[in-house]
Amino acid sequence: MDYSKLTECYELLEKTSARLKKIEIVAKLLRESDSENLPRVTLLLQGKVFPSWSEKEIGIADQLMIKIISTSTGFSTEEINRKYKETGDLGLVVESVVKQRKQSTLFQKKLTVEMVFENLRRIAEVEGKGAQNRKFQLVSEILSSASPKEAKYIVRTVLGDLRIGVAAGIIRDSIAEAFFPEREKKEVVNLIEWAWFLRPDYGEIARIAKERGIEGLKKVRIEVGKPYHVLLAEKAPSLEEGLKKFENPSLEYKYDGARIIIHKKADKIWLFTRRLENVTKQFPDCIELVKRCVKAKECIIEGEMLAIEPETGEPKPFQLLSQRIKRKYNIEEMVKQIPVQVNLFEIVYLNGKLLFDKPLRERRKILESIIKPIKGKFQFSKQLVTKDLKKADKFYKSALKDKQEGVMIKNLDAKYQPGRRVGYWLKVKPTLETLDLAITGGIWGTGKRAGWLGSFILGCRNPDTGEFLECGMLGTGIKEKKTKPEDVTFEELTKMLKPYIISEKEGTVKIQPKIVVEVAYEEIQKSPNYSSGFALRFPRFIRIRTDKGPDEADDIERIYRIFETQKGK
Ligand code: ATP
Repeated sequence: MDYSKLTECYELLEKTSARLKKIEIVAKLLRESDSENLPRVTLLLQGKVFPSWSEKEIGIADQLMIKIISTSTGFSTEEINRKYKETGDLGLVVESVVKQRKQSTLFQKKLTVEMVFENLRRIAEVEGKGAQNRKFQLVSEILSSASPKEAKYIVRTVLGDLRIGVAAGIIRDSIAEAFFPEREKKEVVNLIEWAWFLRPDYGEIARIAKERGIEGLKKVRIEVGKPYHVLLAEKAPSLEEGLKKFENPSLEYKYDGARIIIHKKADKIWLFTRRLENVTKQFPDCIELVKRCVKAKECIIEGEMLAIEPETGEPKPFQLLSQRIKRKYNIEEMVKQIPVQVNLFEIVYLNGKLLFDKPLRERRKILESIIKPIKGKFQFSKQLVTKDLKKADKFYKSALKDKQEGVMIKNLDAKYQPGRRVGYWLKVKPTLETLDLAITGGIWGTGKRAGWLGSFILGCRNPDTGEFLECGMLGTGIKEKKTKPEDVTFEELTKMLKPYIISEKEGTVKIQPKIVVEVAYEEIQKSPNYSSGFALRFPRFIRIRTDKGPDEADDIERIYRIFETQKGK
């Protein structure tokens, strides 16, 4: 497929903000794509070349992009920079300079979707010495063959800022529209989403829909060794009301760690996070525990992983565990410094059998039957089966005393529903509702904070378009100096964000929404100053949510709901 065909589609999508119109445009393109290109087109429409859970990244920031544009078009970097300052969008800049290209290339090829996609993927894969040069060449190669419009979208894709407003939800609905236009919409959309929970890749799902239809989608199953979307919790209004919701409730500690999903097939073991990242390499100690404690040939089990104090076994803050999740080298050292504990609470698959439809009480029994626990290392989540408020309250208080987040009330009669918050689990936590928001911008600091970003623009998600809407500025809670291991400094946060800077204007930078932070605040107010229409009053940094991607950041609807509840008080 010609890349120009995709580009035309981008243009149309950029011009409309109407959801239904967007679906119509995307569906048409999906229908016209051949099977081989369908997965590529599906990702490129979302401005990606890897699924959102992949840790691979193109890794080219705006300054390098300016050099690449300069070399491949013959315009000086000063000139590019000047135009960039005017528009704040390198996509528009490249479009205008390619129009007036000074160096005409001799071998202009017609770009195909495959060429662009594969080149961009290769960029993410080059490593080591000379990587920058190689990245440079790979982008130049496609840019020098690109038309002005193509160049605009290539540059935006590379920088991760496509600006066409197509999120996963639109892709899902467009697959339904493309391949099953006569069917009842809601039913098909649910089926597509279900298939995606089990195999989280809309490219693959689109291909199955095209080639094998409804029956193919119904046959999608989880596979050992491949991540899936896990069951999530809803918030209980209170412990008392939560208990009343279920005929047969059981309480578990809600541990303050990270969900870990363990897959085992004979000697092969994989570990995934709830963001679907493969973290097998980071946790050789956990792998060892699985080998020792799991007495099943093939299974998929879930639990919460905690960082613990090496000497005492005391639980440590989540921030330390997230250091282990991120660490890709010197793993052995980390194993000693930050040992982990796993608290198991689920089994979804055992020796060829899917257990989704079994009630929790049975799943828990099956889980207990295949695990030989090691206390403090690899054990079952603390559980109390009761409907008695007094006993439940005592359990809840002991969870807090043990430095955990609260409790999870679970319905013992409920099945397992991948990917959904369906009210089978209700969480009870003491804190005011915090928000998980993406950092979408920042302002360079002055004085003590000079050289670092000194305040950060917070964004909530628009679930339809996947774009982020500003809702506040964060500075409080981030430290100038590190005094505790779990402290996050301006310097650290700046370093994390720097590769994602898309543009800069008068000291304010725009940043790709990649990093999600948990934020507390006093109140939510209406505000015309922010694109969301709301502002957090006195936002305070709690932690970086390494276990959440931007797709899981809180959306504008949640902000609105909290705003409405406040009014009622
Ligand atoms: P929060 O922001 O409150 O941590 P969340 O959005 O991360 O919530 P929820 O669906 O609200 O996720 O809560 C589910 C998470 O709680 C799970 O993904 C898991 O990591 C964690 N958890 C801790 N203890 C348990 C437990 N006993 N059973 C299930 N999940 C648990």
